Amino acid sequence: MDFSLTDEQEDFVDAIRRFCDHECGTRDQRERLTDSYRQHHNAEIYGQMAELDWLGVTIPEEYGGSGGTMLDACLFMEETSRGLAPIGGYATTLIVAAATGRFGTEEQKKEILGGIARGSVEAIAMTEPEAGSDVGALTTSAERVNGGFVLNGQKVFCSNAHIADHVLVVCRTTKSESKHEGLTMIWVPRDTDGMEVVPIDTMGGRETNHLFFTDVEAPADAVLGEVDQGWTQLMAGLNVERLILAATMLGIAERVFDDLIVYVKERKQFGRPIGSFQSLQHRIAEMATEIESARLMTRWVATLIDEDPDRMLPREASMVKLHVTEITRRAALEGMQMMGGYGYASEYDMERLVRVSLASTIYGGTSEIQRNIIAKTFGL
Ligand SMILES: Cc1cc2nc3c(=O)[nH]c(=O)nc-3n(C[C@H](O)[C@H](O)[C@H](O)COP(=O)(O)OP(=O)(O)OC[C@H]3O[C@@H](n4cnc5c(N)ncnc54)[C@H](O)[C@@H]3O)c2cc1C
Repeated sequence: MDFSLTDEQEDFVDAIRRFCDHECGTRDQRERLTDSYRQHHNAEIYGQMAELDWLGVTIPEEYGGSGGTMLDACLFMEETSRGLAPIGGYATTLIVAAATGRFGTEEQKKEILGGIARGSVEAIAMTEPEAGSDVGALTTSAERVNGGFVLNGQKVFCSNAHIADHVLVVCRTTKSESKHEGLTMIWVPRDTDGMEVVPIDTMGGRETNHLFFTDVEAPADAVLGEVDQGWTQLMAGLNVERLILAATMLGIAERVFDDLIVYVKERKQFGRPIGSFQSLQHRIAEMATEIESARLMTRWVATLIDEDPDRMLPREASMVKLHVTEITRRAALEGMQMMGGYGYASEYDMERLVRVSLASTIYGGTSEIQRNIIAKTFGL
């Protein structure tokens, strides 16, 4: 397989790099844009990216996007993460864009995909207090009433619901023997009466939310895809979801590495740069090797998806999510250790990179669940 980038892709990466250097290249800029790291999304930066036509990278041109590939989207995620661009709303948006592109009606595509290309954020709510890894056990109900639906229940860890235009809620429309049957995806605009969005305090700042639904009304045309086919639709989106999360973390691992290299060359102890100690050199060499393998795997899975977007890739999608997030977490913890006390201090970005990386092996299916899925593909 040829993993080299086209000239156009190289230019795209360069442009994102220059943008990030200019807009969020210094700590002062990042503190201003994130309210001293309390927020992970900045609408101004996001708007500028929309103007540059970057947010619609995978959206067809007829809906206002630029009609790019999954590999283009991965390059965007990788470079914006590496550049520490505060666009935390984008990952869930891209997941929703993929589902809409696959299952949306013409009207929905115009509204949702067009909105995303212009800079809207979208959220997706699956997880519930009693349905985490076992997401099929979800109970938030959508009852058919007067040709539409009425939603009741509770979701947890819904990232970006507080800044999203809509939340795509996975709910139970029919009770059946199999927990995977009878689920439906329904759009709920953020300010809908009866849907309460309550922040969850996390070590990552303001990113995720509880959602409470009390008699929330949704019209029939708020359904994405088919009623009762939500599980199949979720499964069809897993390739993209897992790859996007991997690409985002790849950029974080690269940033860890970039910052670490600068630091170990500058910091002197015992009269010499700490990077001259073989103990550190070997660990940095291993980190570089692991990051390279993460990059290759991300590009490999992106290429497989681009070759045939309808092919299900449970093994490869779980492998890339597992491999890249675990490598990133290891790299960030090693980066902190190799920077000593300064890696732990908020003066440097390393401690924030550690926090970001820790969540990545939990959301989007934990590492344990990814291992279960991979094992299952071998008949285990
Ligand atoms: C920052 C963040 C953002 C998130 N964003 C979203 C979002 O936007 N939308 C959304 O719907 N959800 C979101 N989530 C939820 C996330 O997907 C869940 O937290 C995750 O799937 C795990 O569920 P849980 O937290 O209930 O843990 P549990 O399922 O209770 O798992 C607890 C532990 O048990 C292990 N475990 C569980 N079952 C098994 C098994 N069968 N085999 C082996 N080990 C097992 C898990 O791996 C884990 O280590 C987010 C979570 C976080 C932390």
